[in-house]
Amino acid sequence: MYWAKEETRMENYHINTICVQGGYEPKNGEPRVLPIVQSTTYKYESSKQMGDLFDLKESGYFYTRLANPTNDAVADKICKLEGGVAAILTSSGQAANFYAIFNIADAGDHVIASSAIYGGTYNLIANTMKNMGIEATFVDPDISEEELESKFKPNTKLVFGEVISNPSLQILDIEKFAKAAHKHGVPLIVDNTFPTPVFCRPFTWGADIVTHSTTKYMNGTANAVGGAIVDSGNFDWTKYSEKFPGLTSPDETYHGTVYSKSFGKAAYIVKMTTNLMRDLGSIPSPQNAFYLGVGLETLHLRMERHYENALALARHLKEHPKVSWVSFPGLENDSQYALAKKYLPKGSCGVISFGIAGGREAAVQFMDSLTLAAIVTHVADTRTCVLHPASTTHRQMNDEELMAAGVSPDLIRMSVGIEDIRDIIADVDQALEK
Ligand SMILES: *Cc1c(COP(=O)(O)O)cnc(C)c1O
Repeated sequence: MYWAKEETRMENYHINTICVQGGYEPKNGEPRVLPIVQSTTYKYESSKQMGDLFDLKESGYFYTRLANPTNDAVADKICKLEGGVAAILTSSGQAANFYAIFNIADAGDHVIASSAIYGGTYNLIANTMKNMGIEATFVDPDISEEELESKFKPNTKLVFGEVISNPSLQILDIEKFAKAAHKHGVPLIVDNTFPTPVFCRPFTWGADIVTHSTTKYMNGTANAVGGAIVDSGNFDWTKYSEKFPGLTSPDETYHGTVYSKSFGKAAYIVKMTTNLMRDLGSIPSPQNAFYLGVGLETLHLRMERHYENALALARHLKEHPKVSWVSFPGLENDSQYALAKKYLPKGSCGVISFGIAGGREAAVQFMDSLTLAAIVTHVADTRTCVLHPASTTHRQMNDEELMAAGVSPDLIRMSVGIEDIRDIIADVDQALEK
């Protein structure tokens, strides 16, 4: 867990500088590179010191499940990139979204989620969380303000969406969703995995909490699964204390702590640490956090190249006679272009989706003919790769659910890497010929 108790000089720098130097500021004689603290425990001279840590009277390390210096330095970097006040790393993006929701929704509660979200997150909300007693209403991201408002119930605790949905590439109208959420006294949580803070900072548009699968662009090299949650500190839990008793009334499992009182703007992340990390324990290894930190140092450069390459390929595919449709928010006639211009003016991501004339079978043959681009269940790393969601990531959905998530059976998702664009286009062209 990282929590901004005081301002550091880093906050005043631009995002590119925070990518490189944020989160770890060594003092005189300390290692220049963030050390991997591969230790589960920390030594103390007196049991009183240790007791004060347990009581949260002092900040410090005592057990890596709750906090580790390597993990916290990387959480700090991500917190600053998003412009938040507190952040935590998790062992995966799935854990991040689960924690973000479960931290403020219990059995008997209700959540509203955009239907255009990652298949794993859909499954988490529609099935696993339902089994835990949390009901969900899924809404089309294009829903009108009035209709969206009609979905709220007295027990609604949050609204959830993805800034750019994986894999359907729909862009969330963050302001519309934030407005409705706030009108009903609940926070908006958005998954910012695809744009990353390099292209979108959702807090500036009214989102309250941001989640990430750091497995994707943030790590960028596909060497470690991970997740992150960042709190803007902007949502006032005490104003709606009857809705969020976990944050505003004494936690008997933690010495009667009232998180909103003791930790102010960091209440949400502190409770997540003391309750969910303590009981469920989805922490990343310090080694994986280190890899993530290294990846983040080049995030700004990689995102620019991913977007530039994807835009060039999307324009090329658009003119290709064997391609039936192309979806990429950067294309001027794309259905998402207006939203992209507003929320993602500098770029969106490196993922494009398209359909091939000849449908499902042609799609499979095309993928098998690629030589540079590999077929993998992954997106958003340096290497160009392809996936057919209907037969892999989204296979648990029936056709109706697929269409609601914006995934047609012939959809090919191509994650454009940072190789030379001429080689990427040549590979795609020879595969289309086959
Ligand atoms: C991949 C992904 C997830 C899940 O993250 P994992 O790190 O694979 O657990 C969640 N949301 C989005 C948008 C994703 O792309």
